[in-house]
Amino acid sequence: MRLPRFDYFGPDTLDAALELLATHKEEAKILAGGTDLLVRMKKGLLNPKVLISLKALNGLSYIKKDDEGIKIGARTPLADIISSDLIQIQATALSQACEKIGAVTLQHYRGTIGGNILQDNRCHHYNQSKFHRSGRQACHKEGGKICYARDESDRCNSTCQSDGATALMALGAKIILASAGHERTVDLENFYTTDGIMPFAMEPHELLKEIFIPFQGGQSAYHRLAFRSAIDYPIVCAGVLLTPSLTQKDEIEGARIVVGAMGRSPLFLAGESAGLKGKKFTDFAAFQTAADAAMNSAATFAVHNVGGTLEYRRAMVSPMVFRALKEAAQAADR
Ligand SMILES: Cc1cc2nc3c(=O)[nH]c(=O)nc-3n(C[C@H](O)[C@H](O)[C@H](O)COP(=O)(O)OP(=O)(O)OC[C@H]3O[C@@H](n4cnc5c(N)ncnc54)[C@H](O)[C@@H]3O)c2cc1C
Ligand code: SF4
Repeated sequence: MRLPRFDYFGPDTLDAALELLATHKEEAKILAGGTDLLVRMKKGLLNPKVLISLKALNGLSYIKKDDEGIKIGARTPLADIISSDLIQIQATALSQACEKIGAVTLQHYRGTIGGNILQDNRCHHYNQSKFHRSGRQACHKEGGKICYARDESDRCNSTCQSDGATALMALGAKIILASAGHERTVDLENFYTTDGIMPFAMEPHELLKEIFIPFQGGQSAYHRLAFRSAIDYPIVCAGVLLTPSLTQKDEIEGARIVVGAMGRSPLFLAGESAGLKGKKFTDFAAFQTAADAAMNSAATFAVHNVGGTLEYRRAMVSPMVFRALKEAAQAADR
């Protein structure tokens, strides 16, 4: 499979990159590590006329902290996140999630955190070669009018399989989107559309500049299930954050349960999370109840399109959420 032709730009300032995006808009794509983008281009799923590389933008690669939280530049390599003491201690779920992404080579040489969040949704009816796809009618994501994954669906139900986004949503992260002369901050949980054709609520002239993780004083954890421990994408995953009460240290004040790889975006389960308020960090029965409820909620979003049977993926939500809750609680109890 060969790459299609494109014009390549390698700006060395953020302003220059934003100018290029403003000029080329829909015709351009940002190239970070390329581990998602170039694969899609080779399969003919995407054919941008212009690639704007972030390679020379070293200023977008950093991990910093201030009084309010942790700031991560969008071009930061996954390997830097994995090896960061700050992330390991203050945003454990993110460190655990990045460790699971792809393989060590992908984490060390190419993959970035921005590209991880913005990788396109996947579906095994769609992520195939051009030849394979040519044998059947186009689905919604290819400009057609049907969905092979959910009968009579009027939209694309492709699945978000980003490990990083699931962990970051559990941590209550925000993202900063920049365009020429403008910046806006969005809660990650509000960043998604309801159609997998374009899963992100983002304009073509916008660039993901930074990820912000607020300090919330709790413990987080991330668990995932994949066929193999390396290379494979998650088929179910869960990120959680548990924060203690200021007055009763053994009591949960706030919880965030997020289930990934079960829908068009990671799913923040507000009701199930709220149900843990006031529970003890040692109340594993409450964790099991929350995990089972998370399974029931997440099950309604999933379709059979990323490997494993739907029944198996649905059934595995509960163990993933339970393990993540237990691990975060035990870390908080130490
Ligand atoms: C074999 C293999 C296994 C993989 N396994 C996993 C896995 O287990 N878990 C997982 O989560 N992912 C997995 N991936 C997907 C991918 O490799 C990672 O998500 C990686 O982190 C993507 O980062 P990147 O920098 O290479 O992104 P790129 O491919 O460069 O970009 C991805 C998308 O984001 C856009 N983009 C990137 N940065 C920006 C920015 N700053 N602003 C605006 N747009 C931007 C690009 O235009 C593109 O559309 C796998 C990929 C492969 C090939
Ligand atoms: S979920 Fe449906 S529309 Fe979306 S890529 Fe898969 S088959 Fe196509």
